[in-house]
Amino acid sequence: MRGCKLMMAAWAASVALNAQPGAAVYEGARLIIGDASAPIESGAFVVENGRITAIGAKGTVKIPAGATRIDLTGKTVMPTLNNIHLHIGYEGFVSWSVENHTPENVLDHLEREAFYGAGTAMTMGDQPIAFALQFQRDQLAGRFPPAARFFFTAGMAPPGGGPDALLIQGTTPLHAIFEVSTPEEAVAAVRKIADAKIGQVKFWVDNRDNNRGARKKMPPEVYTPLIAEAHRHGILVHAHATNLQDQKGVVKAGVDVLVHTVVAEKLDGEFLSLLGEKKPYWAPVMGLGDRSELCDGSNPFIEQTLPDSVIADVKAGKTWLPSAPCSAPRTPQAQQREENLKYNFPKYIAAGARIVLGTDAGVSAKYAYGFAEHHEMGMYAKLGMKPSDVIMVSTSRPTEVLRIKDTGTLAKGKRADFIVLNANPLDDIRNTRAIDNVYLNGARVDRDALRAKFKQAVVDRDALQASARKDYVPHPPSSRKAD
Ligand SMILES: [Zn+2]
Repeated sequence: MRGCKLMMAAWAASVALNAQPGAAVYEGARLIIGDASAPIESGAFVVENGRITAIGAKGTVKIPAGATRIDLTGKTVMPTLNNIHLHIGYEGFVSWSVENHTPENVLDHLEREAFYGAGTAMTMGDQPIAFALQFQRDQLAGRFPPAARFFFTAGMAPPGGGPDALLIQGTTPLHAIFEVSTPEEAVAAVRKIADAKIGQVKFWVDNRDNNRGARKKMPPEVYTPLIAEAHRHGILVHAHATNLQDQKGVVKAGVDVLVHTVVAEKLDGEFLSLLGEKKPYWAPVMGLGDRSELCDGSNPFIEQTLPDSVIADVKAGKTWLPSAPCSAPRTPQAQQREENLKYNFPKYIAAGARIVLGTDAGVSAKYAYGFAEHHEMGMYAKLGMKPSDVIMVSTSRPTEVLRIKDTGTLAKGKRADFIVLNANPLDDIRNTRAIDNVYLNGARVDRDALRAKFKQAVVDRDALQASARKDYVPHPPSSRKAD
């Protein structure tokens, strides 16, 4: 029950801090707006009832009588990050299991996202629908402490295909994925998703499924009508595709969000003109394939939220999804991957793909909730993007995919979702890591309490299950064994 008590203590602490009566004015910081506009070098903004009600240069903003004044001179403020691609609910750090999938663990992952500055997180095709809808309703109703807002997509894949060998161990017993083999089944599944009023679907096309025995990847004959039917219902479609042929196929078929980056080959002219014609959103989710930052010496930014035993496991390559230990020599494949990334990444963008932040966190402690965003953003910069563009595609652009208008920039009328930084990320994108504070809906996130919980708590599955809310739909019994 130790983990449970810690969790309750952290909840109480964050709830107490959530109460912020009256207006507050934040003055003197450099304000990065989050869209294409120039920063305000010495700004001020007013927050009332969780919203930004005025913003501008310091001295030009009307301050309500009795407002609490917070001096942020020397700091930089930017909007919170919005992550459109990750996998929530199963990671337990000392375990990775379907048994971990409880509302409390989902909340823990969203708190980790918030700790590192994310205001929203969309989990991709991996949740049982009744559970996800209820979690979303409860969070909207204010039944949880401050955390990143939970978004999810429905998931679709050929029978036994889709998620990687680890994720499928969670999604199969929970029946989280619509398994479809024919165009008719795909269309029928889309109609069920529309009936449930879910606005997003992810499908997997992947040649790795060929390696799981007789199973096949989803062919264009299935995903083309899937996409068309989804669009008829106003549903946004994400496609997981990792090689050039599959990426061409899904872009040609009109997918809205292309997921992953081709790393084993170079992009060709045919694909680049397709990208120019269709201009899909593109979540590159590259960082999971990188060597862990924990391999490069002391890294307090990451280490502060992982138990020491988990840090040691990552370094030793003892992760649930197999990864190389830090001591492993660099492989020729890794070198080839880096070269192809350097060649392909700018080509996607120049051709017209609209890059948007996603991490794929949730299947390995080496690339987990919250810190993965900062690594991913660092890669964008390393591969040629200007810091201001990196921030734009990580704050405001994701809201176009999430289809929300209340966050993503520092502007009048938006939720007061912002990060206070001790250094300027426009100078060096790594400065997004210099987090002083995170505010969600005008409330300061209690990062000290969360840090203590993340660092010490090891998942006690019995405690998680015992504390799991009984009004949540219980896990249906497993009908088929996962790979
Ligand atoms: Zn993914």
